[in-house]
Order: sequence, then C-alpha cells, then structure tokens
Amino acid sequence: MKTLSYGRQWINEDDINEVVKVLKGDWLTMGPKVEEFEKSLADYAGVKHAVTFSSGTAALHGAMHASGMTQGDFAVTTAMTFVATSNTVIYTGATPIFADIDPDTLCMSPENAEHSIKSHGGHAKAIIPVSFGGYPFDIKPFRELAEKYNAVLIEDASHSWGGDRGNHKIGFDADMTTLSFHPVKHITTSEGGAVLTNNDEYAHKLKMFRNHGITRNEAEFEDLPDGLWHSEMQELGYNYRLSEMACALGLSQMKRLDDFVKRRREIAEIYISQLSGIDGLVLPPSKNGHAWHLFIARVKEELHGQFFMFLRDNNIRLQVHYRPVPLQPYYRHKYGYKQGDFPEAEKYYRQAVSLPIFPLMEDEDAFRVCECIKKFFMGINS
Ligand SMILES: *Cc1c(COP(=O)(O)O)cnc(C)c1O
Repeated sequence: MKTLSYGRQWINEDDINEVVKVLKGDWLTMGPKVEEFEKSLADYAGVKHAVTFSSGTAALHGAMHASGMTQGDFAVTTAMTFVATSNTVIYTGATPIFADIDPDTLCMSPENAEHSIKSHGGHAKAIIPVSFGGYPFDIKPFRELAEKYNAVLIEDASHSWGGDRGNHKIGFDADMTTLSFHPVKHITTSEGGAVLTNNDEYAHKLKMFRNHGITRNEAEFEDLPDGLWHSEMQELGYNYRLSEMACALGLSQMKRLDDFVKRRREIAEIYISQLSGIDGLVLPPSKNGHAWHLFIARVKEELHGQFFMFLRDNNIRLQVHYRPVPLQPYYRHKYGYKQGDFPEAEKYYRQAVSLPIFPLMEDEDAFRVCECIKKFFMGINS
C-alpha cells in the first residue's frame, strides 16, 4: 500500500525540459526567466507587479520592509499560521501582535484583530491576514481596518494561490500579497516566493531589497555617476533572488495552476461527499474560490492522537497545521504569551488533522482515506 502524505509536488517532463534548457543557456540568475515568471504571476492575478524571492519567507520579509515597518512598530497577524508570517515582522525590528481565529473560517477574526490593535495603543503598521488552508476570507473588514488605522494590508496567500474572491483572483485585493512556491504549495520552484502588488513604490522597494539594496537605474542615482559601471547601494538589502532554473520551473508550473486547483477541488469534493455525516468528524469550512491547499478535518480532542496513529498505521501521513504561533517557546519567552490567550486557535489545534490533498492524488487514494476514517469511527462509535 503506497504511503500518502498530506501534500507533494507534481513535476512533469515539460517542467524538466524547461529547467534543462536554462542549464544549457547563458543565464543562471537574474536573466530573462525571472521577468517572464514575474509577468506570468502578475498577469494571472491582474496586478501590475510581481517580484520573486528566494522563498515565501523572504517574500514576506520583503513585504514587511516595503510597508515601512521598523523598530517600534506593531503588526497584527493571526495566531494560526506558519511561524514565518510573524517571524518576518520580527526581522524588521517590529513587534508582531496576534489575533485569535474565527472558528467558522479558521482565518483571523477582524474583530479580534481590531481588539489586538486597540490594546497596543491603536497602532499597527500592517495587518496580515492569512487565507488559511486556501480559504478566501472576506477582505472587506480588513480593508476597513487598514484604512481606519492607516495600516498596510498584506495577505499571506501561501495557501491560496489560484483561488479567487468572485471576480478577483487571490493576489488582487491586498496592498501586497505574498506567495510561497515550496513543494507542498500550489505551484513549486523547489524553494521560492513572490510579492504581488499594484503599487509602483512597493515594487521598487521590493526589488531593491532582494538585491542588497543596490540600484543600477540611472534615474535613481543620488551621486554623479563615476562611469558606465556606476551602481549604488542606497539601503540595506539581502540576497533574496530566485534563480533562473527556479523561475523556469515556476513558469512551466504556472501553465498548470488552474488544473492543479481544479484537481484539488475535486479531491475536496470527494472528501466532503464521503465524510459528511460522520458522528465525531467536523469538515473544514468550504466556499467558492477555495484553493484547498489543506483539507483540515477536526476530531474530538480525546480522539486526536488515536486518530492520527490509526491513519499512520494505514500508511496515511497526516499533519497538524499549526501549533498556535504565540504559544511556541520562542514567542512565549519573548513576549510572555501563555495557554488560554488564544482560545479558538488552541481549541482548533487540539482537534485539527490535515488529510492528504494534492493534484497527483488519484480518486482511489481519496476513497482509501475515507474508508480508513470510516473504519476508525466504526470502531469508536460502536
Ligand atoms: C509555506 C508558508 C510560508 C513560508 O514559505 P516558504 O516558501 O517555506 O518560506 C509562509 N506562510 C505560510 C502560511 C506558509 O504556509
């Protein structure tokens, strides 16, 4: 029986050929594939700019920097996300503050976000919701919060690339939207990420930031050029560039993004139709435009470990996304968070299991997962 993990990449011959072509060519970094890939990302989301980065984490760091975030600032994000969302706030010297989730969407609750901002003096440089699991949360209350508190709205869309909010693709609605191209995400470049934006100034800052803060654009020079070779480092940046091989792979993967999302939706449909009505199993919130990065079921706390083990013994590798970030030891020690501070996120964490969902899965793989779950509950409920 093959082992099913919760997610994995799908690389085909076209992808391989595109990478090999780059390896045989002139540019291994900073060449034409970077721009082509960026154009493909921006066009897909219907925005002016996409700036690629060496990882989704680097992309988040870039977005935090471009927002102007610095020491003394606060930025609010959800307690239920991958640690990178708030770690990158800390990278800038600012302090992340957290809001509990809305249990109906598993995404940050706008009311809790506002409460968290108010209890930190009413100041937030950025508001950073996460379209958790691929769920396209309602953007409007966050837009209103961003206006009210003069904050930059940054969507961490690492889970939702290819999803939509009706007539807008994910990537369109926030001031900046960050993507990850890690192998479990919707498209992959092995490691990689990007920031999408309509704002020219943010795009400029993002490009400087990923290349040491160096510009070669004459129009931006502060000093009189020393010669044709002149370039200037104007602020502190990093080497966060994405290679030509990675961009060629991403460009090739973009051709299949819609198919990937469609396939994820089909798998989710199988789970929903097969698993609804099981006593003791709660299915994830569903919505049009959902990109289904994760399919998160919830089981009673007292069965959580047992359920996890039962599926593992049947070669089904579940995951739990995620331990609430402020309760990680680093955050507890640094900021003094404790058990009970984020009751909804904590309750969700004690119940959550991510079932396998990825485009390469066959229908029969999904049915096997469902049979196994039914068998588990037959044993429990009898
Ligand atoms: C994957 C992920 C990231 C980080 O992406 P990397 O490409 O692994 O650096 C950030 N936020 C969320 C919510 C993610 O799932």
